[in-house]
Amino acid sequence: MALKPGHVRRLNRHWGLVWVPKAGWVRFRRSRPIPREAKSFRVTFKAGQWHIAFAIKPEPIEGPGDGSIIGIDRGVVIPLCCSDKTNYDVPGLEDRERRILKRLQRTESHQKRGSGRRARTRLRINRMKGREVARRKDAIEKATTDLARRCDFFRIEDLRIKNMTRSARGTKEKPCRRVRQKAGLNRGILQSGWGLFTRRLEDKAPYRVERVSPAFTSQHCVECGYTAPENRESQAVFRCRACGFTANADFVGSLNIAGGHPVTARGGMVLSGLPMNREPQLPASRSGRAVGILRHQPEEDVKAAAAPPARRPRRPRA
Ligand SMILES: [Zn+2]
Repeated sequence: MALKPGHVRRLNRHWGLVWVPKAGWVRFRRSRPIPREAKSFRVTFKAGQWHIAFAIKPEPIEGPGDGSIIGIDRGVVIPLCCSDKTNYDVPGLEDRERRILKRLQRTESHQKRGSGRRARTRLRINRMKGREVARRKDAIEKATTDLARRCDFFRIEDLRIKNMTRSARGTKEKPCRRVRQKAGLNRGILQSGWGLFTRRLEDKAPYRVERVSPAFTSQHCVECGYTAPENRESQAVFRCRACGFTANADFVGSLNIAGGHPVTARGGMVLSGLPMNREPQLPASRSGRAVGILRHQPEEDVKAAAAPPARRPRRPRA
Protein backbone atom coordinates (compact mmCIF):
# COMPACT_ATOMS: atom_id res chain seq x y z
CA MET A 1 0.00 0.00 0.00
CA ALA A 2 1.22 3.45 -0.78
CA LEU A 3 2.39 5.48 2.14
CA LYS A 4 1.36 9.13 2.11
CA PRO A 5 3.19 11.74 4.12
CA GLY A 6 1.71 12.09 7.55
CA HIS A 7 0.22 8.65 7.42
CA VAL A 8 2.73 7.15 9.74
CA ARG A 9 3.41 8.55 13.16
CA ARG A 10 5.53 7.78 16.07
CA LEU A 11 3.64 7.45 19.28
CA ASN A 12 6.51 6.77 21.59
CA ARG A 13 9.65 4.72 21.75
CA HIS A 14 7.94 1.43 21.14
CA TRP A 15 4.75 2.21 19.32
CA GLY A 16 3.85 3.77 16.04
CA LEU A 17 0.63 4.61 14.29
CA VAL A 18 -0.11 4.07 10.65
CA TRP A 19 -3.09 4.85 8.47
CA VAL A 20 -4.20 1.68 6.74
CA PRO A 21 -6.76 2.19 3.97
CA LYS A 22 -10.12 0.62 4.82
CA ALA A 23 -8.97 -0.04 8.37
CA GLY A 24 -8.07 3.36 9.76
CA TRP A 25 -5.36 4.19 12.23
CA VAL A 26 -3.56 1.10 13.42
CA ARG A 27 -1.04 0.91 16.17
CA PHE A 28 2.08 -1.12 15.58
CA ARG A 29 5.12 -2.11 17.51
CA ARG A 30 8.21 -0.30 16.28
CA SER A 31 10.73 -3.10 16.07
CA ARG A 32 13.18 -0.92 14.19
CA PRO A 33 13.45 2.65 12.93
CA ILE A 34 11.12 3.51 10.08
CA PRO A 35 13.11 4.67 7.08
CA ARG A 36 12.24 8.18 5.98
CA GLU A 37 12.29 7.33 2.32
CA ALA A 38 9.71 4.57 2.68
CA LYS A 39 7.01 5.05 0.09
CA SER A 40 4.96 1.97 0.66
CA PHE A 41 4.26 -0.69 3.19
CA ARG A 42 2.80 -4.12 3.38
CA VAL A 43 0.64 -5.68 6.04
CA THR A 44 0.73 -9.42 6.40
CA PHE A 45 -0.75 -12.00 8.69
CA LYS A 46 1.57 -14.85 9.50
CA ALA A 47 1.16 -17.62 12.04
CA GLY A 48 -1.28 -15.72 14.17
CA GLN A 49 0.53 -12.41 14.04
CA TRP A 50 0.11 -9.26 12.03
CA HIS A 51 3.20 -7.69 10.57
CA ILE A 52 3.87 -4.41 8.91
CA ALA A 53 6.86 -3.81 6.68
CA PHE A 54 7.92 -0.49 5.21
CA ALA A 55 9.62 -0.87 1.88
CA ILE A 56 12.73 0.95 0.80
CA LYS A 57 15.10 0.42 -2.04
CA PRO A 58 18.48 0.18 -0.39
CA GLU A 59 21.62 1.42 -2.06
CA PRO A 60 23.88 -1.31 -3.35
CA ILE A 61 26.75 -2.17 -1.08
CA GLU A 62 30.18 -1.10 -2.19
CA GLY A 63 32.87 -3.68 -2.48
CA PRO A 64 36.47 -3.20 -1.41
CA GLY A 65 37.51 -2.21 -4.94
CA ASP A 66 40.48 -4.54 -5.08
CA GLY A 67 39.24 -6.67 -7.96
CA SER A 68 38.96 -9.75 -5.81
CA ILE A 69 36.90 -12.68 -7.02
CA ILE A 70 35.25 -15.32 -4.89
CA GLY A 71 33.67 -18.49 -6.12
CA ILE A 72 30.70 -19.66 -4.11
CA ASP A 73 29.45 -23.20 -4.08
CA ARG A 74 26.21 -24.21 -2.51
CA GLY A 75 27.80 -27.06 -0.73
CA VAL A 76 26.56 -30.45 0.14
CA VAL A 77 28.14 -30.46 3.57
CA ILE A 78 28.70 -26.72 3.94
CA PRO A 79 25.69 -24.72 2.82
CA LEU A 80 27.62 -21.79 1.39
CA CYS A 81 31.23 -22.58 0.69
CA CYS A 82 33.51 -19.83 -0.58
CA SER A 83 36.80 -20.18 -2.40
CA ASP A 84 38.60 -18.03 0.16
CA LYS A 85 37.86 -20.71 2.74
CA THR A 86 35.13 -18.82 4.50
CA ASN A 87 31.85 -20.57 4.94
CA TYR A 88 28.41 -19.47 5.83
CA ASP A 89 26.01 -21.64 7.66
CA VAL A 90 22.36 -21.52 6.74
CA PRO A 91 20.60 -22.94 9.74
CA GLY A 92 17.15 -24.42 9.68
CA LEU A 93 15.51 -25.93 12.69
CA GLU A 94 17.50 -27.57 15.41
CA ASP A 95 17.03 -31.26 16.07
CA ARG A 96 14.97 -30.51 19.13
CA GLU A 97 12.69 -28.17 17.23
CA ARG A 98 12.40 -30.65 14.44
CA ARG A 99 11.24 -33.25 16.93
CA ILE A 100 8.66 -30.88 18.35
CA LEU A 101 7.42 -30.14 14.87
CA LYS A 102 7.11 -33.83 14.09
CA ARG A 103 5.18 -34.37 17.25
CA LEU A 104 2.82 -31.51 16.52
CA GLN A 105 2.17 -32.84 13.07
CA ARG A 106 1.36 -36.24 14.51
CA THR A 107 -0.96 -34.63 17.02
CA GLU A 108 -2.72 -32.70 14.31
CA SER A 109 -3.28 -35.79 12.26
CA HIS A 110 -5.63 -37.33 14.77
CA GLN A 111 -7.42 -34.19 15.84
CA LYS A 112 -10.88 -33.55 14.55
CA ARG A 113 -11.13 -31.39 11.48
CA GLY A 114 -12.40 -27.94 12.19
CA SER A 115 -11.91 -28.26 15.91
CA GLY A 116 -10.42 -25.57 18.05
CA ARG A 117 -7.70 -27.87 19.28
CA ARG A 118 -6.65 -28.67 15.79
CA ALA A 119 -6.54 -24.99 14.94
CA ARG A 120 -4.27 -24.38 17.91
CA THR A 121 -1.95 -27.18 16.87
CA ARG A 122 -1.94 -25.81 13.35
CA LEU A 123 -0.92 -22.43 14.68
CA ARG A 124 2.00 -23.90 16.55
CA ILE A 125 3.09 -25.80 13.46
CA ASN A 126 2.95 -22.67 11.36
CA ARG A 127 4.88 -20.76 13.94
CA MET A 128 7.61 -23.36 13.94
CA LYS A 129 7.82 -23.38 10.19
CA GLY A 130 7.85 -19.60 10.10
CA ARG A 131 10.76 -19.64 12.47
CA GLU A 132 12.68 -21.91 10.15
CA VAL A 133 12.07 -19.65 7.17
CA ALA A 134 12.98 -16.56 9.13
CA ARG A 135 16.20 -18.09 10.36
CA ARG A 136 17.25 -19.06 6.88
CA LYS A 137 16.40 -15.67 5.46
CA ASP A 138 18.30 -13.95 8.23
CA ALA A 139 21.39 -16.05 7.57
CA ILE A 140 21.21 -15.35 3.85
CA GLU A 141 20.82 -11.62 4.39
CA LYS A 142 23.83 -11.58 6.67
CA ALA A 143 25.93 -13.68 4.32
CA THR A 144 25.14 -11.63 1.22
CA THR A 145 25.79 -8.33 2.98
CA ASP A 146 29.08 -9.59 4.31
CA LEU A 147 30.14 -10.93 0.93
CA ALA A 148 29.15 -7.79 -0.95
CA ARG A 149 31.25 -5.77 1.47
CA ARG A 150 34.42 -7.76 1.44
CA CYS A 151 34.75 -8.91 -2.13
CA ASP A 152 34.34 -7.28 -5.53
CA PHE A 153 33.24 -10.06 -7.82
CA PHE A 154 31.42 -13.31 -7.38
CA ARG A 155 31.12 -16.42 -9.41
CA ILE A 156 28.32 -18.81 -8.78
CA GLU A 157 27.02 -21.85 -10.53
CA ASP A 158 24.33 -21.47 -13.09
CA LEU A 159 21.98 -23.97 -11.58
CA ARG A 160 19.61 -24.41 -14.45
CA ILE A 161 22.40 -26.37 -16.05
CA LYS A 162 23.54 -27.92 -12.87
CA ASN A 163 20.32 -29.74 -12.30
CA MET A 164 20.89 -31.68 -15.45
CA THR A 165 24.52 -32.46 -14.92
CA ARG A 166 24.62 -33.42 -11.33
CA SER A 167 21.30 -34.58 -10.06
CA ALA A 168 21.33 -38.11 -11.37
CA ARG A 169 24.59 -38.80 -9.66
CA GLY A 170 24.85 -39.14 -5.97
CA THR A 171 22.78 -42.22 -5.51
CA LYS A 172 25.64 -44.48 -6.45
CA GLU A 173 27.99 -42.89 -4.04
CA LYS A 174 28.34 -44.59 -0.74
CA PRO A 175 29.62 -42.22 1.86
CA CYS A 176 29.02 -42.62 5.52
CA ARG A 177 25.49 -42.24 6.69
CA ARG A 178 25.53 -39.08 8.73
CA VAL A 179 27.12 -37.13 5.94
CA ARG A 180 24.51 -38.24 3.50
CA GLN A 181 21.78 -37.31 5.87
CA LYS A 182 23.24 -33.97 6.64
CA ALA A 183 23.96 -33.51 2.99
CA GLY A 184 20.39 -34.13 1.99
CA LEU A 185 19.31 -31.75 4.67
CA ASN A 186 21.64 -29.01 3.57
CA ARG A 187 20.75 -29.50 -0.01
CA GLY A 188 17.11 -29.19 0.89
CA ILE A 189 17.73 -26.08 2.88
CA LEU A 190 19.69 -24.53 0.12
CA GLN A 191 17.42 -25.55 -2.65
CA SER A 192 14.87 -23.22 -1.27
CA GLY A 193 17.45 -20.72 -0.14
CA TRP A 194 19.73 -20.61 -3.16
CA GLY A 195 17.34 -18.57 -5.26
CA LEU A 196 17.02 -16.06 -2.47
CA PHE A 197 20.76 -16.03 -1.97
CA THR A 198 21.61 -15.25 -5.58
CA ARG A 199 18.83 -12.70 -5.82
CA ARG A 200 19.96 -10.87 -2.71
CA LEU A 201 23.61 -11.00 -3.70
CA GLU A 202 22.76 -9.51 -7.06
CA ASP A 203 20.68 -6.83 -5.35
CA LYS A 204 23.46 -5.88 -3.04
CA ALA A 205 26.28 -6.26 -5.56
CA PRO A 206 24.75 -5.39 -8.94
CA TYR A 207 26.83 -6.30 -11.99
CA ARG A 208 29.32 -8.09 -9.80
CA VAL A 209 27.88 -11.58 -9.95
CA GLU A 210 28.78 -13.92 -12.77
CA ARG A 211 27.21 -17.27 -13.40
CA VAL A 212 29.50 -19.98 -14.58
CA SER A 213 28.89 -23.41 -15.98
CA PRO A 214 28.58 -25.93 -13.19
CA ALA A 215 29.90 -28.76 -15.31
CA PHE A 216 32.67 -30.73 -13.65
CA THR A 217 33.08 -28.35 -10.74
CA SER A 218 32.92 -31.32 -8.45
CA GLN A 219 35.34 -33.46 -10.46
CA HIS A 220 38.18 -31.20 -11.48
CA CYS A 221 41.39 -31.34 -9.46
CA VAL A 222 42.66 -27.89 -8.64
CA GLU A 223 46.18 -29.21 -8.14
CA CYS A 224 46.86 -31.10 -11.33
CA GLY A 225 43.80 -30.56 -13.48
CA TYR A 226 42.81 -34.21 -13.69
CA THR A 227 39.06 -34.46 -14.13
CA ALA A 228 37.06 -37.55 -13.37
CA PRO A 229 33.90 -38.48 -11.49
CA GLU A 230 35.95 -40.76 -9.24
CA ASN A 231 37.73 -37.73 -7.86
CA ARG A 232 34.62 -37.06 -5.91
CA GLU A 233 35.23 -39.78 -3.40
CA SER A 234 32.11 -39.06 -1.42
CA GLN A 235 29.70 -36.22 -0.86
CA ALA A 236 32.13 -34.71 1.56
CA VAL A 237 35.57 -35.65 0.28
CA PHE A 238 37.44 -34.84 -2.87
CA ARG A 239 40.45 -37.03 -3.62
CA CYS A 240 42.27 -36.76 -6.91
CA ARG A 241 42.97 -40.13 -8.50
CA ALA A 242 45.95 -38.73 -10.34
CA CYS A 243 47.87 -36.71 -7.78
CA GLY A 244 46.21 -37.63 -4.50
CA PHE A 245 45.17 -34.10 -3.67
CA THR A 246 42.52 -34.32 -0.99
CA ALA A 247 40.21 -31.65 0.27
CA ASN A 248 36.70 -30.88 1.27
CA ALA A 249 34.54 -31.48 -1.77
CA ASP A 250 32.55 -28.29 -1.35
CA PHE A 251 35.71 -26.25 -1.09
CA VAL A 252 37.12 -27.75 -4.27
CA GLY A 253 33.81 -26.94 -5.92
CA SER A 254 34.07 -23.33 -4.89
CA LEU A 255 37.63 -23.10 -6.22
CA ASN A 256 36.50 -24.42 -9.57
CA ILE A 257 33.61 -22.03 -9.65
CA ALA A 258 35.95 -19.16 -8.87
CA GLY A 259 37.99 -20.30 -11.84
CA GLY A 260 35.06 -20.09 -14.21
CA HIS A 261 34.59 -23.22 -16.25
CA PRO A 262 37.64 -25.24 -15.52
CA VAL A 263 37.17 -27.83 -18.22
CA THR A 264 36.39 -27.59 -21.89
CA ALA A 265 33.09 -28.90 -23.06
CA ARG A 266 34.16 -32.28 -24.39
CA GLY A 267 35.52 -33.42 -21.10
CA GLY A 268 38.99 -32.56 -22.28
CA MET A 269 41.35 -31.06 -19.86
CA VAL A 270 42.32 -28.18 -18.03
CA LEU A 271 42.86 -24.61 -18.23
CA SER A 272 45.89 -23.70 -16.29
CA GLY A 273 43.77 -23.13 -13.24
CA LEU A 274 43.42 -19.49 -14.00
CA PRO A 275 39.92 -18.34 -14.64
CA MET A 276 38.63 -17.73 -18.10
CA ASN A 277 36.86 -14.53 -18.64
CA ARG A 278 33.61 -14.18 -20.41
CA GLU A 279 31.60 -11.30 -19.16
CA PRO A 280 32.76 -7.83 -20.05
CA GLN A 281 31.99 -6.33 -16.68
CA LEU A 282 34.49 -8.53 -14.95
CA PRO A 283 38.11 -7.54 -14.89
CA ALA A 284 40.59 -9.65 -16.75
CA SER A 285 41.18 -12.32 -14.25
CA ARG A 286 44.91 -12.18 -14.58
CA SER A 287 44.97 -8.64 -13.38
CA GLY A 288 42.24 -9.16 -10.85
CA ARG A 289 43.08 -10.93 -7.69
CA ALA A 290 41.24 -14.15 -7.80
CA VAL A 291 40.79 -15.36 -4.31
CA GLY A 292 42.07 -18.80 -3.70
CA ILE A 293 42.07 -20.03 -7.24
CA LEU A 294 45.70 -19.65 -8.11
CA ARG A 295 47.32 -23.01 -8.11
CA HIS A 296 48.65 -23.38 -4.66
CA GLN A 297 51.23 -25.74 -3.31
CA PRO A 298 50.05 -28.01 -0.55
CA GLU A 299 52.15 -26.27 2.09
CA GLU A 300 50.88 -22.89 1.05
CA ASP A 301 47.95 -21.47 2.90
CA VAL A 302 45.35 -20.44 0.41
CA LYS A 303 43.93 -17.89 2.69
CA ALA A 304 47.24 -16.18 3.22
CA ALA A 305 47.52 -15.64 -0.50
CA ALA A 306 43.94 -14.53 -0.66
CA ALA A 307 42.62 -11.06 -0.37
CA PRO A 308 40.78 -9.46 2.50
CA PRO A 309 40.81 -11.02 5.93
CA ALA A 310 37.67 -12.88 6.68
CA ARG A 311 35.33 -10.93 8.80
CA ARG A 312 32.58 -12.50 10.74
CA PRO A 313 29.17 -11.81 9.28
CA ARG A 314 27.75 -8.66 10.73
CA ARG A 315 24.32 -8.35 12.12
CA PRO A 316 22.34 -6.16 9.82
CA ARG A 317 20.20 -4.67 12.55
CA ALA A 318 19.06 -1.26 11.61
ZN1 LIG B 1 45.12 -33.97 -8.99
